[in-house]
Amino acid sequence: MNWEPWSGCYKVSDGCTYCYYYGPYSKRCGQNMVEKRSDFYKPLLKTPDGAYRIRGGKTVATCFATDFFISEADEWRKEAWAMIKERPDLDFLILTKRIDRFLVSLPSDWGAGYDNVNIGCSVENQTLADYRLPLFLSYPIKRRFVACSPLLGPLDLASYLGGIDHVTVSGETGREARLCSYEWILAIRDQCLKAGITFWFKSTGSLFMRDGLVQRVNPCRQGALARELDISILKEKKLF
Ligand code: SF4
Repeated sequence: MNWEPWSGCYKVSDGCTYCYYYGPYSKRCGQNMVEKRSDFYKPLLKTPDGAYRIRGGKTVATCFATDFFISEADEWRKEAWAMIKERPDLDFLILTKRIDRFLVSLPSDWGAGYDNVNIGCSVENQTLADYRLPLFLSYPIKRRFVACSPLLGPLDLASYLGGIDHVTVSGETGREARLCSYEWILAIRDQCLKAGITFWFKSTGSLFMRDGLVQRVNPCRQGALARELDISILKEKKLF
């Protein structure tokens, strides 16, 4: 289940270079225009009999087509936090490339973190991992995951995984996608195994190298091929 309270974004890091906002979406909807969306109040919408439209127990992935911590949404975010708090029966997944705006974006009653919020820090290469992950680990967050997405190079995350619950890896998608090597993915998987945390190989990306061979992978095959390789380490229900 997705919830996009606002839309629009602009580049902040290496992984943004071929973001789909700079492709077909930006041509249709306007590049960089950050706007509140009509389904802003989606978590609180009710059916005629008074039940929430989004039933309890669901995972709600938010801002996958923008960034929850983008500065243009500072005012709207206060209401978004209030809605998140009002639905403790839902798990909210917030993935960001702007983790350095986390502290200035919190509601006043955040304390050690809301139980129903799972924050994901996106890292694409070692430079960004070394910048973002120490910040991420220093913040008051109850549940943390790392998304290596799009993975653009080998990553050594070992020293950061102590405070992390889960790691997800995806290659880059699109006509101009940069290469993603299976060796990099296996190395991250080993680091997760040693740290005793879950790992999900979500997608190969469009340009995937394995055993020295580079292949172009159709977008609709990228997740399936990752599944077929069967290297994910998942416990219980899939949250990510
Ligand atoms: S932060 Fe995400 S949505 Fe925004 S430009 Fe970068 S990749 Fe695109």
